[in-house]
Amino acid sequence: MSDLGTRLDRYRGQELILYCAHGNRSLRLAKALDDAGFENALSLAGGITAWAEEGLPVELPGELDDAQRVRYSRHVLIPEIGVAGQQRLLSSNVLVIGAGGLGSPAALYLAAAGVGRLGIVDDDVVDESNLQRQVLHSTAALGEPKVASAEERVRELNPDVEVVGYRERLSADNVDRILDEDWDVIVDGADNFPTRYLLNDASVWHRIPVVHGSIFRFEGQATVFAPGDGPCYRCLFPQPPPPELAPSCAEGGVLGVLPGVIGSIQGAEALKLALGIGEPLIGRLLLYDALAGSFDEVAVRRDPSCPVCGDAPTITEYVDYVEFCAGTH
Ligand SMILES: [Zn+2]
Repeated sequence: MSDLGTRLDRYRGQELILYCAHGNRSLRLAKALDDAGFENALSLAGGITAWAEEGLPVELPGELDDAQRVRYSRHVLIPEIGVAGQQRLLSSNVLVIGAGGLGSPAALYLAAAGVGRLGIVDDDVVDESNLQRQVLHSTAALGEPKVASAEERVRELNPDVEVVGYRERLSADNVDRILDEDWDVIVDGADNFPTRYLLNDASVWHRIPVVHGSIFRFEGQATVFAPGDGPCYRCLFPQPPPPELAPSCAEGGVLGVLPGVIGSIQGAEALKLALGIGEPLIGRLLLYDALAGSFDEVAVRRDPSCPVCGDAPTITEYVDYVEFCAGTH
């Protein structure tokens, strides 16, 4: 009981409904939890047997097969995940924008973790200058579409994962079609401002949380934009920086391992959101400085006057993002 009490600690204060087959064991547990300070633990009278006899809906938890029990054993051992959490991951849908520096570690760890359906959007081909950091791709894949190279690598890593590849650049013309395909979480590994603003607006309108990451030289940042619960990208950055002050990684350079750190943090946040556990980085911008070896955190808030997620939005349809980011309007 003491162990169970600790494991249930995160539910303290919430209403808990306990059930067993006939309602006897759950009644004893409810009493024990009440003694342990859980005031809202109730036992389902008659148990699941009476529930089912009433004709009320019953959903049987999915099972893991033998190979999955072994593959995901280190997840199953964690009380916050367990068999049910792993099942949840296997039926979750995560869309990764960009199979580059950030998308590589994110996609690899999400695939290894058993995210059942992994979307990858990228229109680029593997270039030699990518290999210093984009660990999804190998020297043998030079010249191949990144989506094809990513698909192959993910398939080799974990056959449980269905990869949905989009060999296209995210644009106002395709974003609704892609986002409409049932994604629980989006990982933003875009390397340019037009895509970032487009994805932001689309995700606010589609109400899909976005795990944001960005990198430059030795510094990176990550946060979670959850529509209706915290700021969006435009709340933080209403305007893109002037192009001359915002060099891309092709122009400014990046330490090879940096996207590994930030993309892995994005992977962790995506898994937390898919599992519904922990404290997501909503309203918090996490900053990492590889040279200093330090992490910092800045609180960020939703802006009620934000043009997209604010109380009276002024932008309600897609704009010309390339033009917007070029600062011409
Ligand atoms: Zn906003």
